Amino acid sequence: MQNKLPLTINPIKAAQKRLDYIGYYPNEAITRVENPKSNIECSLSFDFDEQRICVINIDAKITLEQICQRCFRPFVTEVHVMNKFSPVKSDTHAETLPEHYEPVLMNEFDEVDILALLEDEIILSLPIVPVHNSKHCEVSEADMVFGDIPIENEKPNPFAILVSLKNKG
Ligand SMILES: [Zn+2]
Repeated sequence: MQNKLPLTINPIKAAQKRLDYIGYYPNEAITRVENPKSNIECSLSFDFDEQRICVINIDAKITLEQICQRCFRPFVTEVHVMNKFSPVKSDTHAETLPEHYEPVLMNEFDEVDILALLEDEIILSLPIVPVHNSKHCEVSEADMVFGDIPIENEKPNPFAILVSLKNKG
């Protein structure tokens, strides 16, 4: 049985304790992602890097329903997001971060709203024009007189990004 994760976390305190969390945010707590069909399964880890910058690693998955923009029928898809964040108190602070960290704003209690952060990441990772995989789509290739709809849902492999960051360093 997995744990329900806290909605907000103080990342500095969590990093001092080098905490890792594995668990979920329940489907009914999700407010901004449309048609969630599962909980958000999530692992979080908090640490400081060698420059003493606080780092939040997130790895999260959700299943959701989207409407195919080719045949207008719903389909279920899994979204996987992975990213490294660093908590900041201001935009000025955010500008000092190394490029490979995304800034995330802490509230007045020095906490980060983790669920809101995950919702943002999930929404950003969704294709602008969701379409079925062509073998599942009601509209066959032959019906498409205007040719192929550009495939917008091919996202870069997150591991490829990690590899390129490693190579840079
Ligand atoms: Zn379709």
